[in-house]
Amino acid sequence: MEYVDAVVIGGGQSGLVAAGALRELGVSPVVLDASDRPGGSWPHYYDSLTLFSPARFSALPGLSLDGDPDRYPHRDEVVDYLARYARRLDVEIRTRTRVEAVESAGDGFVIRTADGRGLTTAGIVAATGAFANPLRPDLPGQGGFTGDVLHVADYRSPEPYAGKRIVVVGGGNSAVQVGHELAEDARVTLASRHPIRFLPRLRAGKDIHHWLTSTGFDHLPLEWLVHFVGGTLVQDTGQYQNALANGHLERKPMFTALDGDSVVWADGTRETVDAVLLATGYRPSLGCLASLGALTPDGMPLHSGGISTTHPGLVYLGLEFQRSFASNTLRGVARDAAHVIPPLVAHVRKAPAAAGL
Ligand code: FAD
Repeated sequence: MEYVDAVVIGGGQSGLVAAGALRELGVSPVVLDASDRPGGSWPHYYDSLTLFSPARFSALPGLSLDGDPDRYPHRDEVVDYLARYARRLDVEIRTRTRVEAVESAGDGFVIRTADGRGLTTAGIVAATGAFANPLRPDLPGQGGFTGDVLHVADYRSPEPYAGKRIVVVGGGNSAVQVGHELAEDARVTLASRHPIRFLPRLRAGKDIHHWLTSTGFDHLPLEWLVHFVGGTLVQDTGQYQNALANGHLERKPMFTALDGDSVVWADGTRETVDAVLLATGYRPSLGCLASLGALTPDGMPLHSGGISTTHPGLVYLGLEFQRSFASNTLRGVARDAAHVIPPLVAHVRKAPAAAGL
């Protein structure tokens, strides 16, 4: 069976940064990605998406984003940028190669791919993202609901929803951005457990990312803050708060049930709706590690700061709050790579002989 020193599963921004960091430390990895090109999930995000951080705060190590550093690049620019980033890495990237399962083998691993092949390795970076694993909560009464229930992962553009009555479940960035876009031509209510909390995009004339980076806030392990605040903070130039204030967009406490063609609101009133759009987030897409014993029963990785606590030689990159507020972002991934890649390289250097791989 083919042996490689290190395998990066996933060729999105996290996998590409991991591959570059491995190369810098003298290890030549192979990147395996299920899709037909490197760059990750960005091509599948909704059509109007622009980055929440300006270009100057959104580049990966070694390659800046072209153009005005203060603009907010569109999704397609990120897709192109990541394609360029992948080309200049000089790393072997095998696309259309889905990892089905990872098994332990001595101090290393056997990786089984969907095309029936296998390879052995001493080190794995799991950089599989979360987009393929949308969280779809079971809503009370959903089985008998006659409208559509969709996840925002399936949303691309507002046209199919024109003239419809839509409830968007969630109070985070995706819920508000997509809800606001839909409200141009549809009647939209955001249904959320907590009131929506906004984070002004500009402070003292500068983008919030200037302050997040210059104060060091971005580096802090602040998952507790999100729970304390009661949900994520929605970045806003003022347009979303205005839309809620002037009735363009409505927000209500989470409904209690779906029933037939209706939602039943917390105050007992019923309303006919065409579609419920779940903006309820994602969970790590780590199914290929399930049989390895590296995950909790509900599929979450057992790790400390991205380093597996069950398997030496296994690290993660791109997990939400892996080490900080910025972990699962373009601006944060390199800092986490600097934490997880050196110990992985140390393991790879000593593992092959011991493992007899
Ligand atoms: P992904 O981009 O999801 O890439 C994972 C890759 O792994 C995919 O290519 C997939 O094919 C591959 N893969 C998965 N499983 C397997 C397997 N078993 N075998 C082989 N390959 C596999 N961040 C920002 O910094 N700024 C933003 O403005 C921003 N906006 C966002 C908007 C949305 C709607 C979402 C969902 C996220 C946004 N993020 C943003 C967060 C984050 O930067 C992106 O989600 C980014 O795509 C994460 O990169 P990744 O490489 O970790 O994962």
